[in-house]
Amino acid sequence: MAKLHLITYGCQMNEYDSERVAGLLGRERYELTDREDEADLILINTCAIREKAEEKVFSRLGQLKGLKQKNPGLIIGVMGCMAQLQQRDILKRAPVVDLVFGSPAMSRVGELVERVKRERRPVLETGEHPLTKITSTLSRPDRLKAFVTVMEGCDKYCTFCVVPYTRGRERSHAPESILEEIRGLAQQGYREVTLLGQNVNAYGKDLTPAADLAALIESVNQIEGIERIRFTTSNPVNLTRRLMRALRDVPKACEYLHLPLQSGSDRVLARMNRGYTRARYLELIQELQETVPGIALSTDLIVGFPGETEADFEATVEMVEGVGYDSLFAFRYSRRPRTPAAEFPDQVPEADKARRLTRLLEVANAIQARKNAALEGREMEVLVDGVSKKDPRELAGRTRCNRAVNFDGGGRQLYGELVPVRITQAMPHSLRGALA
Ligand code: SF4
Repeated sequence: MAKLHLITYGCQMNEYDSERVAGLLGRERYELTDREDEADLILINTCAIREKAEEKVFSRLGQLKGLKQKNPGLIIGVMGCMAQLQQRDILKRAPVVDLVFGSPAMSRVGELVERVKRERRPVLETGEHPLTKITSTLSRPDRLKAFVTVMEGCDKYCTFCVVPYTRGRERSHAPESILEEIRGLAQQGYREVTLLGQNVNAYGKDLTPAADLAALIESVNQIEGIERIRFTTSNPVNLTRRLMRALRDVPKACEYLHLPLQSGSDRVLARMNRGYTRARYLELIQELQETVPGIALSTDLIVGFPGETEADFEATVEMVEGVGYDSLFAFRYSRRPRTPAAEFPDQVPEADKARRLTRLLEVANAIQARKNAALEGREMEVLVDGVSKKDPRELAGRTRCNRAVNFDGGGRQLYGELVPVRITQAMPHSLRGALA
């Protein structure tokens, strides 16, 4: 049997796409290998969100040159966002590549690999194609949690982001195809699903008849075997009261929301084209906290966006302290080709970005430590997903609010179980506990 080695960079959507591609190629008789030196086909699933991510891919391709010299039959492919964005430039800069294809062509990966073999020349496939639901995935008996794409693309055109150019406009999958996929996952033993979309809470607006994320969550809730439902990434612009109520009322929906803020300054938000103000965002947070008491919140932030002054940055810090996020992901702004912000003249010096990022992370860590400490003594439901990395005698899992918990399971086999755990100690980024 031929062997496939997959290298994945970037977000959860890419992880998910890689699994789908492996599933599709599995049908074409490729089995996965961890070793690139024994592969017949190497696929790199790429990310274009930051320049650094792209450079990593080119340096990896440089490393693969030697393998190709040893095994001229080896096929090397580049897929995903960077493939969609750079297209032929990848073949020019890295002649070792045989195949470049974007997300819309993913469902035809088997056919594209065959074309490379047959035509013995590089193949480029980055055109638009109708949205196809790929349900084939790798069968991994040890897995409990699955990602399920419910929509692709984005129409928002934030001035820093390449997604509208790499993933196209917002398109939703039909509810029935999503539910069928999740029923299949439940039968394989999966207990938790995360519904994925770049703007997941805009789900269904483009469907006829129109659907919405709240209704989809209610339907997933009916599927026997699935115990937890999460979704990401939500956009404040599309956050509805109906979705907030679903978070409160649908038993399997976890009380956790990732809601990107990006900046706490109205001036910067407007230049980012985010479509909301700081006041509107705070209004949403208040409504969320009133509807779902105790909801855990996380966010994404960009520091050093072009033109960001110290005062703008302080406005972000103030928002972070005010909202009190349970966790956050902060990044230095990085210029992406084809995006308007890359051309803004008032780029912020790297040293300022680095200093601001350090300060923001310090603030965020202090809040997280405080929030974790408040959980000491509480009993929390944990989905057991393995053993602790530090102490293999301890079990590990996640709470409904997505916190990592390591706990003494009293020597019991609890993998895949939902168990009550009493929190005994709060660490900066995780919790410790014991079976309640
Ligand atoms: S909403 Fe998200 S995916 Fe869409 S352009 Fe903005 S940052 Fe990118």
